[in-house]
Amino acid sequence: MRAQLHTEDRLSASIRPVAARVTRIITEVTLGRGNASLKELAGAVSELESVAPELAGPIAASLKKDKTEWENHIARNTCSAGTCFLPRSAPCQVACPAHIDIPSMMAHVGHGDFSKSLEVLSKDTPLPDSCGLVCPAPCEYECVQNTVSGEPVFIRPMKHVAARCAEIRPELKKAAPTGKKIAIVGCGPAGLTAAYYLAQKGHSVEIFDEREHPGGVMRYGIPNYRLPDYKLYAEIDVIKNLGVKIHLGYTVRQAREFQDKGYDATLLATGMQNSKRLGVPGDDQDFVIGGMDFLSAVRSGKNPRVGPHVIVIGGGNAAIDVAMTAFRQGATKVQMWYRRNRKQMPANPHEVELALAEGVELVEFWAPTRIFPDKRIEFERSRYAPDAKTTPPVTVRADQIFAGIGQEADLGWLDGTKIETKWGNIVCDPVTLQTGEPGIFAGGDIAHGASTVVAAIGSGKRAAESIHSWLMGIPADFESLEPKRRDEVPFLPSTPQQRTSSDRAHIEENDPLTRRVSHDFMQKDWDEKVAAVEAERCLRCDICIGCGLCELACMEVGAEALKMVETKGGRMVFKDFTTPAEKCIGCGACTSVCPTGAIIVEDRDGFRITEITGTIVRKQPLQVCSCCGETFSASARQYHKTRDTLGKKVLEEMLCPACARIQSAKSMKEMQWMAQLF
Ligand code: SF4
Ligand code: SF4
Repeated sequence: MRAQLHTEDRLSASIRPVAARVTRIITEVTLGRGNASLKELAGAVSELESVAPELAGPIAASLKKDKTEWENHIARNTCSAGTCFLPRSAPCQVACPAHIDIPSMMAHVGHGDFSKSLEVLSKDTPLPDSCGLVCPAPCEYECVQNTVSGEPVFIRPMKHVAARCAEIRPELKKAAPTGKKIAIVGCGPAGLTAAYYLAQKGHSVEIFDEREHPGGVMRYGIPNYRLPDYKLYAEIDVIKNLGVKIHLGYTVRQAREFQDKGYDATLLATGMQNSKRLGVPGDDQDFVIGGMDFLSAVRSGKNPRVGPHVIVIGGGNAAIDVAMTAFRQGATKVQMWYRRNRKQMPANPHEVELALAEGVELVEFWAPTRIFPDKRIEFERSRYAPDAKTTPPVTVRADQIFAGIGQEADLGWLDGTKIETKWGNIVCDPVTLQTGEPGIFAGGDIAHGASTVVAAIGSGKRAAESIHSWLMGIPADFESLEPKRRDEVPFLPSTPQQRTSSDRAHIEENDPLTRRVSHDFMQKDWDEKVAAVEAERCLRCDICIGCGLCELACMEVGAEALKMVETKGGRMVFKDFTTPAEKCIGCGACTSVCPTGAIIVEDRDGFRITEITGTIVRKQPLQVCSCCGETFSASARQYHKTRDTLGKKVLEEMLCPACARIQSAKSMKEMQWMAQLF
């Protein structure tokens, strides 16, 4: 029915208020809020039946047929389908694998309090700066601003701004020592994250990694121009300061060796370090190189020279990194051959733009079929191409061919253990991350398949909670890993225009032709004042849970001042912050049903103010009632014209609605009395 309420021409003005009332009561029931009773709902439905039987019919039938279910919803807040009473966290926070409290973190940036912003971040990630530079930002895909303005809030670099500008670093508390020793194999994002949380829980944590430097994929798989070493190391230092020891250049021979050496638990978080082969004849020749092997060689300081003509196969972020690094290593012509088109590339669209700006050529809809010893590679038109059946294969010559189609792990060191593998990953319990060997857990890419840094952080958090509970013999608090508000940050005073603006901020990078020959950090610092303005575009979905009750209450009183739309995720969001300025009557019906205080109507400084998550959408001067002296909003004002017995107007008063009603009733009586006289 909500959809019909949004299509104005489908429901007449006489039906809308009662339809809105029924929808509001049902919404309150599904949220477990309000004081709705079955009797009240049945009454509203029967009222609706009299004006719109086709709308009321299915609800009335359900009230009869599913009476017990309705009663359970209202009296016990239980739902047999499991679809009601669910927590309503901000969609961005839900989409973030580390469940960072994005709206609180950004609101602090908006207030210019970067230290507090970093403190919020530090609760859910030990790597906010690194994430702020390299995260593909799944949060932005779910941001409700996509629906409102067409452009999500620029969330990713907020973390980088907070980390850069914070004057006070968060104080990390450590619990009393537990006496338990934990070995973590792999110093990438999953291992570092698990260490960060386990050390705070009082355990003694040591990380073992075979490389020369810490950071795993962040150090060896992501180019320095995107994530400079000094930024990564600053974050690793925070973890080391918790007492975590990092042993580098350590080759693990067997997964159980740490148990044998007296460690109480082991976390395997070695990541996926080897490039996948292309899987076509000739892919084993020396000029066919794994993309990750190439990036790793460059980051190890081996300075491999390539070019002049390089072909990269693949369309993900790693393939983009390979293509852009190829320029920096001597190539003058870099082509990315991809089996689909640009829109379908898994790489972050901004990364694609950066690569194209540097001169990378994208060749769409081709798949490799074989590679010849004379450095020619043959492509056939991929099945995704519209002209797949009619276009013949092509052959191209290149100096190097890079495989950027994914990574895999060497799992030989699991031999002789009870740890199973499947499709190149370690098999573990999806909730506890326990492997087949008691006390050995797996996290990050090695457990879930090659993914992002932030996904590895989410996995490291889970591993830490699970290992802690296993070691201490207590139930794991996995609930604490769910999206939660980490702070209560006041709203930002944004204007209605800012809230719906599609003017998304952007970050400047160095000039493409300058940067493509340099490994230096390519991004210019994002001005914190620009970040603060961008933060004002956030609609604070942590407070406004998108239930839509306010809009329904507004329809019930007939004002229709609030306008919401449904996002692709099924959440209601304010589409228009300017309409209330014309239509709001300041009655407060919205605020009386809002379960979170996101919308308020209050009298302040001589005005009745309607405010949605910090944005004033209506400001009406208050009037003083000439009769009772109470204040009331000007839009509800009543001019009462008092007339003498001959019907001549003698006085015009400003009355509040209550006094006006009394005066009207009195006048009616006088008129009737006079009518009897004559
Ligand atoms: S508007 Fe703000 S809280 Fe809502 S999804 Fe976007 S960033 Fe998150
Ligand atoms: S302002 Fe309140 S009532 Fe309106 S959608 Fe948000 S949480 Fe619900």
